[in-house]
Amino acid sequence: MSDSTLEFSYLNLPQCFYTLQKPASFTDPKCLLWNEPVATELNLSTYKITPEALIRALKNSNESYLFKNSYSQAYAGHQFGHFTILGDGRATMLGELVQDKMNSFTKRVDLQLKGSGQSPYSRQGDGRAALGPMLREYLMSEAMHGLGIPTTRSLAVFTTGEKVIREEPLEGAILIRIASSHLRVGTFEFAAIQSDPSALKALFDYTLDRQGLSWVHQSENRALAFLSYVMQEQIKLITEWMRVGFIHGVMNTDNVALSGETIDYGPCAFMDEYHPKTVFSSIDRHGRYAFSQQPAIIQWNLSRFAETLIPLIDQDSQKAIEKAKAVLTQFYQKFFESWHQMMLGKLGLSSESLSPANRVPSEGSSQDEIEKDQKLIADLLQWMENHECDYTNTFLDLQMQNFKGKHYAEKEFQKWWNSYQKRLKEDRLSDKASLLLMEKSNPKVIPRNHQVEASLKAATQSHDLSQFKRLLSAVKNPYDLKSEDAELQEPPKEDEKVRATFCGT
Ligand code: AMP
Ligand code: MG
Repeated sequence: MSDSTLEFSYLNLPQCFYTLQKPASFTDPKCLLWNEPVATELNLSTYKITPEALIRALKNSNESYLFKNSYSQAYAGHQFGHFTILGDGRATMLGELVQDKMNSFTKRVDLQLKGSGQSPYSRQGDGRAALGPMLREYLMSEAMHGLGIPTTRSLAVFTTGEKVIREEPLEGAILIRIASSHLRVGTFEFAAIQSDPSALKALFDYTLDRQGLSWVHQSENRALAFLSYVMQEQIKLITEWMRVGFIHGVMNTDNVALSGETIDYGPCAFMDEYHPKTVFSSIDRHGRYAFSQQPAIIQWNLSRFAETLIPLIDQDSQKAIEKAKAVLTQFYQKFFESWHQMMLGKLGLSSESLSPANRVPSEGSSQDEIEKDQKLIADLLQWMENHECDYTNTFLDLQMQNFKGKHYAEKEFQKWWNSYQKRLKEDRLSDKASLLLMEKSNPKVIPRNHQVEASLKAATQSHDLSQFKRLLSAVKNPYDLKSEDAELQEPPKEDEKVRATFCGT
């Protein structure tokens, strides 16, 4: 097998976008987790990137070939609504792994160390990370991948052999993260405030190239086409989060990846009992990033993104604003369609309710049918909210017609169930196809907060990774639970509930 070397296409951008930066050297780095399937998929051995090589490199960062051109990225972002200049304050990019070359497009992924030491973007921070939050990101991102939702991946967690000071001294760690790029809405916000307008243009061209969006060049207005594309990808992503009850927790514009991947797992969590206002993050005091707020927030973030593109949309900024608005106003209709379709999937319904004999295929659902389905979904969610039903397990109960709880015996549910059964019979999907659709829409297991926290406690306080590894292995295959893992489906008991999560920075 021939040798490969890291590439650095990002460093062709103007200098303002990065600072060459080596990770810190660490006294006693050790590999705690190594994701072999990811390593194999990325062909890492041809790059001579192995746990042993990384340990050697982290002990003596200045000398290592692995950090020859490493750098930290500059970006900005709206954090809880406030604009700030940011950057990789605790991350180092090692470079890009070339995955595929297709015609003129080279598919690359970034290899990044998180928790690797200070950079010029660290502000007041120490550039370090504690073991708990790095294990959390590893687990959550692998769960997300298992759920089939676009996400950055985790390659490894190393302990550093050093303490980091938070409220108390904690074991330091580094996560190695893979992303199809780390270009964010915040990267464009950073570009848009540079005095040299060529920075924005360079970033725009680079992003199209990096994400393989050559078709955009054929569009009448490239920046508008790109805005529509990013909007569509974010709609898909948020719909998917809502399918599985995921709450990101810090949807600041610097945490929105233009690739449409979920990025930056801080205080994120999966909802147990359904409530649209669910918030876990300890820093989200006003519920800005609550479960049901996520579409509105992504729309707000996309508006900040659109603002950065104004000079590229039209030389006349008034015209550019009108054009961008015309794209953004489609957001709610498009989001609704995507969400509605997803919710129908969770109920095993297609969007065409009439039997084929009664339907002209190209017609789609009538407004009346859509409204009826909308009511069916809304009634179910309202009932779930009233009875504090578990989001994941309720859909599994419907799927398996397993009605153990008292709430299922209530009139309100019975009435809903009857209209649901009637609707199922009218659907063009066969019973088998409907069940298959439910099975792929409804995960059997999610990383429940109380289990995540308990497994992290065992890992960080007693160096016992067994619980963590068991949970990890189950959530990697969330549609196919082993019978011995059935207890992972249990919602928390009252005294097990974890109501707040922390970003741990
Ligand atoms: P996050 O909440 O992880 O998205 O981080 C927001 C910003 O704060 C990013 O620019 C990070 O690089 C920076 N940051 C987070 N933790 C630290 C830390 N311990 N030291 C320096 N910068 C940090
Ligand atoms: Mg971030």
